[in-house]
Amino acid sequence: MEFQRELLIAEILAPGSGERIRQSLEVRVDPLTGHTSRILPEQGLMPANDFDLAAFARENQPRCPFCEERIDSMTPRLTPELDPGGRLVRGEAVLFPNLHAYSSHSCVSVYSPRLHYLPLGDMTERLVGDNLSTQVEHARAIMAADPQSRWASINANHMLPSGSSLFHPHLQGIVDSQPTTMQRMLAEVPPERFESYLASERHSGERYLVDTGRVEWLVSFAPIAPAELRAFVRRISSSVEADEDLIAELAHGLTRALNAYAEMGFESFNLAVYGAPPATDGYPLNLRLGCRSNLKPLYRSDSAFLERLHWEGLIDLPPERVAEEIGDRFRR
Ligand SMILES: [Zn+2]
Repeated sequence: MEFQRELLIAEILAPGSGERIRQSLEVRVDPLTGHTSRILPEQGLMPANDFDLAAFARENQPRCPFCEERIDSMTPRLTPELDPGGRLVRGEAVLFPNLHAYSSHSCVSVYSPRLHYLPLGDMTERLVGDNLSTQVEHARAIMAADPQSRWASINANHMLPSGSSLFHPHLQGIVDSQPTTMQRMLAEVPPERFESYLASERHSGERYLVDTGRVEWLVSFAPIAPAELRAFVRRISSSVEADEDLIAELAHGLTRALNAYAEMGFESFNLAVYGAPPATDGYPLNLRLGCRSNLKPLYRSDSAFLERLHWEGLIDLPPERVAEEIGDRFRR
């Protein structure tokens, strides 16, 4: 597979001296969906975190509905058709419906009611795996009770400013009769294109991270989000088809990625696991993970007109450098 990229040159006269300056940037085309992304020279668009998140956490903790003192009284319960206990618990993870519906079935699952503040360096395979398990179990229960709802995704807005309205770290699940726009676009990709994309990345090795058995991890060629990683799961098209071993394998990769983000100085991320209907032939369950700007007063949002309205990534962390930084951690 030929990866499409085009070098653009911009010329300006420098302020003051009037010296002619040439700047280059690269426009890359995503091999799966065809969306484009602009890769800029590094210019510090994503500064490392210097905000005291722990102090901010202590400030808002007394009102948090997901903390252990309040989770029972302040969060809603699943209907008895889905679960007689009203909540799904696995290890420390607790899943309950979202108070504000995003779809026919939307849920929230906290890593632990005791972990109001969970920096990415403290993520463990146990916390991530147990939380993913509640999401898978919930989506299975919904598909059994509501056969129309076949599109499941597992998502995260982790820590401000990722979009989370509540500070306490959690995942969010959506199970619906309709795909989201990106689920639809990915489900429309011909199966052989996934195959040749992965084969090309394996061959070049520039952005390829690891094959953990059933899951392949790589850095996006044309990222939408900074330090964007993608993973592809063989032989299943929906999270509901994941067995315990596969959930543990996914948790292993996700934990490595999030710990690596922490080492790179990031504390906030978005995640989407894009499920298609179960047993969709040739569609590999796949996910995308990207970090977000660090919080600070008057911080620069990493989501501006290009990202929001043009659906175009604007990235100053070259994917190949991200692969170098994150690769060692994955291969350790
Ligand atoms: Zn809390």
